Amino acid sequence: MTDLPGTSKIIIIGGGIIGCSTAYHLAKMGLEVTLLERKKLTSGTTFHAAGLVGQLRTSANITQLLGYSVDLYKRLEAETGQATGWKMNGGLRLACNAERWTEVKRQATTAHSFGLDMHLLTPQEAFDLWPIMAIDDLVGAAFLPTDGQANPSDITLSLAKGARMAGAHIIEDCKVLSVEIDRGIITGVVTEQGRIGCEKLVCCAGQWTRNFAATVGVNVPLVPVEHQYLITERIEGLPANLPTLRDPDRLTYYKEEVGGLVMGGYEPNPILWRDGTIPQGFHYTLLENRLDHFEPLMELALGRVPALETAGIKQMINGPESFTPDGMFILGEAPELRNFFVGAGFNAFGIASGGGAGMALAEWVAKGEAPFDLWPADIRRFGRPHFDTDWIRARTYEAYGKHYTMAWPGEEHHSARPSRRSPLYDTLLAAGAVFGEKLGWERPNWFAAPGELAQDVYTYQRPNWHSAVAREHQAGRRTAMLIDQSSFAKFTLKGPDACAALQWIAAANVDRPAGSLIYTQMLNDKAGIECDLTVTRIAEDEYYITTGTGFATHDFDWIARNIPAGMNAQLVDVTSGYAVLSLMGPEARRILQAVTRADLSNTAFPFATARTIGIAGAPVRALRVTYVGELGWELHIPTEYAHTVYAALHSAGAAHGLVNAGYRAIESMRLEKGYRAWGADIGPDHTPDEAGLGWAVKLKSGIPFRGRASVAAQRANGVKKLLASFTAAPGVILYGRETIYRDGVRVGWLSSGGYGHTLGLSIGMGYVRHAAGVTPDHVLSGQYELEVAGERLPCTVSLSPLYDPHMARVKG
Ligand SMILES: Cc1cc2nc3c(=O)[nH]c(=O)nc-3n(C[C@H](O)[C@H](O)[C@H](O)COP(=O)(O)OP(=O)(O)OC[C@H]3O[C@@H](n4cnc5c(N)ncnc54)[C@H](O)[C@@H]3O)c2cc1C
Repeated sequence: MTDLPGTSKIIIIGGGIIGCSTAYHLAKMGLEVTLLERKKLTSGTTFHAAGLVGQLRTSANITQLLGYSVDLYKRLEAETGQATGWKMNGGLRLACNAERWTEVKRQATTAHSFGLDMHLLTPQEAFDLWPIMAIDDLVGAAFLPTDGQANPSDITLSLAKGARMAGAHIIEDCKVLSVEIDRGIITGVVTEQGRIGCEKLVCCAGQWTRNFAATVGVNVPLVPVEHQYLITERIEGLPANLPTLRDPDRLTYYKEEVGGLVMGGYEPNPILWRDGTIPQGFHYTLLENRLDHFEPLMELALGRVPALETAGIKQMINGPESFTPDGMFILGEAPELRNFFVGAGFNAFGIASGGGAGMALAEWVAKGEAPFDLWPADIRRFGRPHFDTDWIRARTYEAYGKHYTMAWPGEEHHSARPSRRSPLYDTLLAAGAVFGEKLGWERPNWFAAPGELAQDVYTYQRPNWHSAVAREHQAGRRTAMLIDQSSFAKFTLKGPDACAALQWIAAANVDRPAGSLIYTQMLNDKAGIECDLTVTRIAEDEYYITTGTGFATHDFDWIARNIPAGMNAQLVDVTSGYAVLSLMGPEARRILQAVTRADLSNTAFPFATARTIGIAGAPVRALRVTYVGELGWELHIPTEYAHTVYAALHSAGAAHGLVNAGYRAIESMRLEKGYRAWGADIGPDHTPDEAGLGWAVKLKSGIPFRGRASVAAQRANGVKKLLASFTAAPGVILYGRETIYRDGVRVGWLSSGGYGHTLGLSIGMGYVRHAAGVTPDHVLSGQYELEVAGERLPCTVSLSPLYDPHMARVKG
């Protein structure tokens, strides 16, 4: 028995790499922290990891976080005196066919965008770095010299030692049994050795996290999955500085270990481990080997490394690791319970992420917000579908199986679908809809015409939906389009203080007369954009808030937690109460007028207003707003009337060229109009002024709001980056993350990319950065190129919308 402290401001549950790294960083900040481990440090999943440390991800900030791990691992041994096994031998990634080679070249460009030096290699150059592989099927390879490998247990113990040296308590053999909560406030934990009072709890309990968090009503969608690798005896001629190797076309990875090889992989038919609880006494425990299951991976590996045929197998490892439905780990404060933080679900890259994830989580715990935008990993990216364990298991099974398959542009998941359906789902399906999925919702991406294959066919070239999206886009620009956007998240904020509360939370002035619709950002203290949405004043004491499908949990949480203490305003999620049909295009008014008695003239129903109008017997909340740059209304329809209104609109619209349209047409049209997408073009790392949205901020009004001081300071001092639009020749295919060069110097990357069907050009949006400050003149005076799949291509830059219907102007 150890002497338990009576209290500790922060308690971490779990002594794997994530808990130890979080303890290390919290202690270094001088905070009082105690880590409680059920058994021994590393005894969960960490002790049996293979130890590859790669860095490149599709998000700049997750890549930065992994880069932080590398920087930390480089110096940790010198700092703590505890070995880490860190070796920076670089990482190789192979391509065995033309499409994979395109993917690898695009990944190398992404690396350049994010400041990593990734080289493209010929098969022979790759062989020179990895001389025991067969290269007859290789098309090319990419090499990232700063990738490496570590000994997972040693690095964890080194972090634990560093944490102790900085003042953290680390207590082993001390299982946390329950959390004490008094009227919604965490007050302590009960452990096998007694009670400890605390203010904040950080749950880094690996695969135990889902069940543990559920005891306090927190949902953590993860599934333990069996993951296997083998370790060979020494292989003659194997260099000690062998880079790690990823061979995605053969689903396998490798690293050098004491003169032999570690070889593991991602089978397409993973084995989900157990259905709920983890057996008692499960520590330093491995699972039974599944040789039959590993056999296909072994076959693939033999084709790459013939020496495996004769190499002795020293050990086979099968261990459970937590995987998540989208392949990304889970960080942050739980939306369900204040001061309960989560760091779990590391999808077999917890060693690579450990250093950075622990740093980010520690900052989140200490300061109440992430050090930078971590949306791809944020616990608030989940929502309703992620409560059901069967749904999670089905989607995680798919995500694991796709670990090394091609990550196609626009690729959708196929598992656990259809789940959330708009009332119009069957009608749209019959009309040729090809659906995508977001937060469980089925959403029409595009509509196949009779005779066209109603299915996505993925490629890195122009996809099969290109011409269908062109049709829908053109209808939106020339006649009218109808889009089912029922998946929008919708909230009401109601109460005597609703206006005052929202004035504090929103950057725009929301104290406008009932019937006004306001586009606004919601900012953090640094003026970073936490939400980007519309609010409609329904009544003196009520607002109707609409935001993107994927932001339902996040935005609800942000608004709810920012309602000033003591104010009387209730936030309620009413998403399921309304279907939404967006009627957009120059004919929108004529079509809508044909089905309603309401006066839709511009004087009676101007832009940025809302009215309840009658359509075919239904009371419809009509919002005059657009995300595609055309005249139009979002029609928010009580769900049970959705069919009736849809039928009435189509019947009236037929004579006016109304067509069904999907989300891919919206994307093409909003890029032309320069509308920003939260999570891509804007987010907590970007301020309104940087994003060109300063006009929407009520700075001059003198009204206080969160983030105001930072907006004012930036307005006075100027910005160091500005969001711009770029166009490239129609044959250049942009997806986002392509590198931006200004006068030959790398200045940023595309946050969005796509094709503008009115312009007939490829379009990107991205920030132009310059440490000494950026002005519109600076942006517009440069000569620009985009790096696309390793090639630099000319492009044009613009700070204004590329397409403007009112001025009938199209800029090339
Ligand atoms: C076969 C295999 C190979 C892998 N290879 C790699 C690789 O090459 N590179 C890489 O980056 N990653 C790899 N990983 C992934 C990596 O091992 C994990 O992501 C990482 O170890 C997860 O660390 P953790 O701290 O989240 O979990 P864990 O190490 O499981 O730590 C959680 C801890 O919480 C403790 N705990 C649980 N409940 C309680 C409680 N109630 N009270 C107190 N303590 C509790 C547990 O005992 C455990 O020690 C691999 C994983 C496997 C299985």
